[in-house]
Amino acid sequence: SQTRERKPEWLKISLNTRDNFQEIRGMMRDRKLHTVCEEARCPNIFECWSQRTATFMILGKICTRACRFCAVTSGLPTELDLEEPQQVAQSVKEMGLNHVVITSVARDDLNDHGASMFAATIRAVRESNPLTNVEVLVPDFGGAAERLAVVLEAGPDVLNHNLETVSRLSDKVRAKAKYDRSLSVLRQAKALRPGQVTKSGLMVGLGETKEELIEAMTDLRAAGCDIVTIGQYLQPSLKHMEVSRYYHPSEFAELKEAGKALGFAHVEAGPLVRSSYHALEQAEHAKAA
Ligand code: SF4
Ligand code: SF4
Repeated sequence: SQTRERKPEWLKISLNTRDNFQEIRGMMRDRKLHTVCEEARCPNIFECWSQRTATFMILGKICTRACRFCAVTSGLPTELDLEEPQQVAQSVKEMGLNHVVITSVARDDLNDHGASMFAATIRAVRESNPLTNVEVLVPDFGGAAERLAVVLEAGPDVLNHNLETVSRLSDKVRAKAKYDRSLSVLRQAKALRPGQVTKSGLMVGLGETKEELIEAMTDLRAAGCDIVTIGQYLQPSLKHMEVSRYYHPSEFAELKEAGKALGFAHVEAGPLVRSSYHALEQAEHAKAA
């Protein structure tokens, strides 16, 4: 039998309680709406919330897909809450966010895969928070450009769609997604809205090689992707895929250099990097580039 690799020191974070964090935490109590930051017990919550960045999940909590790395419950969703755009907008205001990330489960059961709810949420957030940067982390919408166009018409600052893993492992890691389809989402975004800042994310520790990671980054660049985030995969439960290995911080630094050499406007790489970590800085770099 295999012995599991122990979690290295650099993945253990010490909890601190910065003032801003406590303040925002207080506001979020008794709210119907929950952040991904809290629900996923994201280790970056203190840092992100102190910097006034948070991620909201729209379109319910049950996903029509079942990716092997993901902690979200899969099944047939029933929820479609038309009040959601207003609720997100209100929370963004109360939390005083500088940068908000709006994401969703995959809603393959809906005609538009949820595209119109993304658009409505972007518009509602903009209306009451004109200074807040808005990023959307979207599903692949089944690859349909007309659904993506609905989201882009609402004018997000950043269009994020995760590639998650290298080509060889894609089918194993996320059975209902496709490597090439994810690349085409990013390519379509640039074609549909020239100047749109695009972003994607990769996880490491799923069994990929470094050469394959470079290849994936090269493919992202070829699709016009501006920002890439690279973080360590952590197994959410024993039912999920095992971690193949933990990358050392110096390896993340190497990946960051490799990404910069490929021409990304911004590369965020590190053990605890998630796609929304340092999201405001990432977006600012990409705009300046
Ligand atoms: Fe929330 Fe994303 Fe920051 Fe985690 S990395 S705390 S999910 S905004
Ligand atoms: Fe998780 Fe997204 Fe996959 Fe659904 S589509 S299982 S939310 S990663």
